[in-house]
Amino acid sequence: ATFASLGLAEWAVQTCKELGMHKPTPVQTHCIPKILAGRDVLGLAQTGSGKTAAFALPILHRLAEDPFGIFGLVVTPTRELAYQLAEQFRALGSCLHLRCTVVVGGMDMLNQAKTLMTRPHLVIATPGRIKVLLEENPDIPPLFSNARFLVLDEADRVLDVGFEEELRVVFKCLPKNRQTLLFSATMTSELEALLELSANKAYFYEA
Ligand code: AMP
Repeated sequence: ATFASLGLAEWAVQTCKELGMHKPTPVQTHCIPKILAGRDVLGLAQTGSGKTAAFALPILHRLAEDPFGIFGLVVTPTRELAYQLAEQFRALGSCLHLRCTVVVGGMDMLNQAKTLMTRPHLVIATPGRIKVLLEENPDIPPLFSNARFLVLDEADRVLDVGFEEELRVVFKCLPKNRQTLLFSATMTSELEALLELSANKAYFYEA
C-alpha cells in the first residue's frame, strides 16, 4: 500500500514524504481507510507502530475538507503524551492553517478556557483537566457540540487509571454522530465495555 492508495489527499501524501514516511505501517494501512470511511476504530498498536499518524492523518484529511468549530478531541493519559501528540499533529498538518491546543494539568486553567473559546480545530487533553474545564465553565461544553472525532490514545491506560468518571463527562459533551477512535496497546474488559457503546465499529488487531 501507499499513503495515496489509502485515500489520503495529495497534500497529506506529500507531507508524509517530506517527513520521511515513505510507506504506511500496518496499523496505518488498516485504520486509515476505515477512519476515512466514517467508521469507529479500535486499533491495537504499540507505541512506535505509527499509531499516531494512523488517526492524525485521516482526521486532518477531513478537517482540511470542512473545518468548523472544534473538530476533534484527543484524550491521552499524560501531559508528555499530550505534547507529543500535538507535535505530530502540527507536523502532519503543517500545510494547513491548523490550530491545535494542549489542555493539561499544571497549566493556567483560565488561559486554557480562553484558548478553547477561540475554537481551535483540535484539542489534546488529559482526562482530569478537560473534565474540570467542561464542568466549571458553562460556555465550554457547547464548543464541543459539533466535534467530529473523539480519540482515546493509550485507551487501556486511560481506563486503567480509573478515568471512567472523566470520560463520562467528555462523552456527554460530544455529539452522538461523532467518530470514536480508540488506540490501545492491549485489549481490556474496560475497552470492550466502551466499544459496546459504538454502533459502527471496525476492529483492527495488530499481528
Ligand atoms: P507512534 O507509534 O505514533 O508513536 O510513532 C512512532 C514514530 O514513527 C513517530 O516518530 C513517527 O514520526 C514515525 N512514523 C509514523 N509512521 C511512519 C511511517 N509510515 N514511516 C516511517 N516512520 C513513521
